[in-house]
Amino acid sequence: MSVKLELKTWGNFIGGKWVPSTSGKIKPNINPANAEEILGYFQESSFEDVKNAVESAEKAFYDWKRLPAPNRGKLLVKVMQILEKRKEEVSEALTREEGKSFQESLGEVNKALNTLEFFAGEGRRFYGETIPSELPKNFIYTRREPLGVVALITPWNFPVSIPIWKMAASLICGNTVVLKPSSLTPWTAVLLMEAFREADFPAGVVNCITGSGSVIGDALVKAPEVKAVSFTGSTETGRKLQALAGQHGKPIQLEMGGKNAVIVLNDADLDLAASAAALGAFGSTGQRCTATSRVIVEESALEQFTQKIVEKAKLMSDSLGPCVDENQLKKVLQYIEVGKNEGGKLVCGGHRLKDSKHLKGFYVESTVFSHVTSDMRIAKEEVFGPVLSVLSAKNLSDALKLANGVEYGLSASIFTQDAEKVFEFIDEIEVGMVHINSATIGGEAQVPFGGMKNSGMGGREMGKQALDFFTEWKAVYVDYTGSSRKTNFY
Ligand code: NAP
Repeated sequence: MSVKLELKTWGNFIGGKWVPSTSGKIKPNINPANAEEILGYFQESSFEDVKNAVESAEKAFYDWKRLPAPNRGKLLVKVMQILEKRKEEVSEALTREEGKSFQESLGEVNKALNTLEFFAGEGRRFYGETIPSELPKNFIYTRREPLGVVALITPWNFPVSIPIWKMAASLICGNTVVLKPSSLTPWTAVLLMEAFREADFPAGVVNCITGSGSVIGDALVKAPEVKAVSFTGSTETGRKLQALAGQHGKPIQLEMGGKNAVIVLNDADLDLAASAAALGAFGSTGQRCTATSRVIVEESALEQFTQKIVEKAKLMSDSLGPCVDENQLKKVLQYIEVGKNEGGKLVCGGHRLKDSKHLKGFYVESTVFSHVTSDMRIAKEEVFGPVLSVLSAKNLSDALKLANGVEYGLSASIFTQDAEKVFEFIDEIEVGMVHINSATIGGEAQVPFGGMKNSGMGGREMGKQALDFFTEWKAVYVDYTGSSRKTNFY
């Protein structure tokens, strides 16, 4: 389906209404596949907008938290139904503003639908525990309590599913939210707000302010009404926000970068391993936090695997989407230069695509470096583009040492037919998500998502574990000794 593109100026969504920023400033949103195409205009929010949004969320909080959790879930079901009907429209907007293929966009929107379904159900499982007391006729139980207003700061690479998984988890717990989406992907964020509005969410429960994180981010984190912050983005920004949140005594959840490795042992099905590594490295133009950016191959399989991955990379090159913007393109091209200068052997790709089909966008070829060693920057740092480094290992224990020898710990996978080695890998690999004989990418709504080390902290997203960040536990002691109470108990 082709959606008619209306060039529109979108407001902030505050207190259930579309409002312009008090700054009076707007910014165009650009299509990364064609930098000449403007997709719409979005508010450049001010400190005053932050204040208005958090006040609106604070005002809505007490009624929202008193609404029974199953009823909060019913509203999430309505959002899911509205988005289901608009799946193609939202997917097309996502493709136009972020650059991933329409099929990948549909996949992302479907994931958001699954997430809404899962968290709506959590409203009916918003359980505490009963705990035996040391005392007779005493009943102890626990219940979850929402935190209040939460600030959700999200990146551009999954601009539908990440805001949805943060919003669904925080809302089902009874929190109200202020979303600050990436400046590069505000369109999908406002389309999500439309769905919440149409689902009759009470005014102020969900708010969204667009604009630059470096301008309004601090004010949002510091606002006294904001009780917690959930952030997904780069490790650099995450660390800054962690320090700021710490100064203001606020809990912060951080989902950050990755340098995800695939280990290929010499007994692996090399075709399968190369297909999965290519999908992980080049799918979504390598712009996934779980993208494969290193393949660590056992020496005797190295040559054959390298040949196969190069073939797959060449096949995919023409169908890759663009980098999200010019800065990201420059960053990827710089890393390719760094790789060459460090002594990596460029065996495939390495250039910007400039033919007539790609000229107006930020396209780069799928790129493979062989002869990469663990001290090189392309083996350690997150590139966030379609660039894959191939490293060689003597055996599994050497491969594990290489895989774990980076600051990140998001996802990893292994290709082997040896069950003992599979379980050794599961025991020893330092990541939050492990895949066996499949790519490093992907995640399901009911499964905890997130990383270890500098990839994540503050608790997992998705799955029932997501509720832990967005709630406090309240312990309740009920003494029902009544008339048999002994006043001088102790
Ligand atoms: P980013 O530059 O760190 O930005 C993330 C968000 O933070 C954006 O909304 C950004 O706003 C905002 N921001 C920037 N500076 C800020 C500040 N000083 N205060 C408050 N907010 C601020 O990351 P990105 O480039 O959008 O996303 C790519 C990164 O996200 C990669 O590193 C990727 O690995 C990571 N990621 C991780 C996961 C995970 O689950 N682990 C998932 C997806 C992506 P502006 O856009 O206005 O600058």
